[in-house]
Amino acid sequence: MVGTALAAALGSNPLTASMKIVLLDRQSPADLEQGLSPVPESRNSALIRALSRRLPSSLTSLQPASVQSIHLPGYSNKDQQGGSQLATISLEDGRHLRTRLLVAADGARSRMRSLAQLRTVQWMYNQRGLVATVRTAEPHATAWQRFLPTGPLALLPVRHGFSNIVWSTSPAQAAELEASSPMGFVAAVNQALQEPSDQTPSGLASLQGLLQRGQQMPQPPLVSELAGGSPKSFPLALCHAGRYVRPRFAMIGDAAHAIHPLAGQGVNLGFADVSCLAQALAEACEAGTDIGSLSFLEEHYERPRQRANVSMMAGLDLLKRLFTPQEGLLANMRNLGLDTVNIMPAVKQQIMKYAMG
Ligand SMILES: Cc1cc2nc3c(=O)[nH]c(=O)nc-3n(C[C@H](O)[C@H](O)[C@H](O)COP(=O)(O)OP(=O)(O)OC[C@H]3O[C@@H](n4cnc5c(N)ncnc54)[C@H](O)[C@@H]3O)c2cc1C
Repeated sequence: MVGTALAAALGSNPLTASMKIVLLDRQSPADLEQGLSPVPESRNSALIRALSRRLPSSLTSLQPASVQSIHLPGYSNKDQQGGSQLATISLEDGRHLRTRLLVAADGARSRMRSLAQLRTVQWMYNQRGLVATVRTAEPHATAWQRFLPTGPLALLPVRHGFSNIVWSTSPAQAAELEASSPMGFVAAVNQALQEPSDQTPSGLASLQGLLQRGQQMPQPPLVSELAGGSPKSFPLALCHAGRYVRPRFAMIGDAAHAIHPLAGQGVNLGFADVSCLAQALAEACEAGTDIGSLSFLEEHYERPRQRANVSMMAGLDLLKRLFTPQEGLLANMRNLGLDTVNIMPAVKQQIMKYAMG
């Protein structure tokens, strides 16, 4: 998805519109629109459809086409200045392409990242993210997230009464939910979304009551049926590449950084990479700089994006730890903190602005 966004961004800027762009994916456009990637059909497919409409007419699309190997120039001084060598990408069907800049946007388990020998730091959360599409009894336009002892459950509206479920939970519960019948799954979601939360100790309860006074806490809508395919789950991990670039090579999106879905920020980080790289390439075209030179990619793409991504990832990891199953004072102080932010519109607005990039 993030790769399509970059092609669309380059095509819509007059400085880069005449670049020769080749977009390749191992899935066909129809498969991509039906959503074989982690986020279930509707949200992903709507985004991909919208992005596909903005692709430049000059773009060459190779879909489906799978990457088999890549060859990149080394790190010698000559190469660092760009050098004359191009990057080569070989496809499983035997075709070879040569390019001044190869951009990897092949997701969290990026094959191109391993082929480029770029290392990652990663840790597993011992949780699985379960995704499904459901229909609600009433159409709604609010994104709901409930923090359960096993992890957060999100109900995200799409359109026409459909919503996506993203449920981070223990591997055991994920397996149980995947094996349940459609009706069993709907009942489990409704129970998890609707059941009243545990008691808060009396002192904090009265403080919370004070903060929430006059505020009607609305209830999430009832889920009426499972739509589309059965629920599927994926292991959740934090993964960050130590380098995003090499001579004639750059990584964007989940290939460079993958995060816990609790704040729904994965795609936003990828889109921010796209915006930064597209802007840098436009400036390079204007100035006549080699777009594949290592020093150029480091300065104009890797450094600014690593700074921003690392701070967002650290914040989200902290949030994940705060919401890791826990009881007692810490959990109650966390809830009190959230209630306090909730009644301070200026602070809430700033947080929302930051999250939206
Ligand atoms: C359970 C779960 C829930 C999530 N929920 C949210 C959410 O609510 N909000 C949010 O913003 N983000 C969410 N995310 C994260 C979001 O899915 C990713 O951040 C986003 O999809 C990353 O986009 P991408 O283009 O970098 O990678 P991907 O969407 O993974 O796309 C990679 C593309 O590369 C192609 N590809 C892979 N290997 C090859 C190859 N060898 N050759 C050719 N093509 C190849 C694939 O076909 C695919 O089209 C969630 C993730 C998970 C796991």
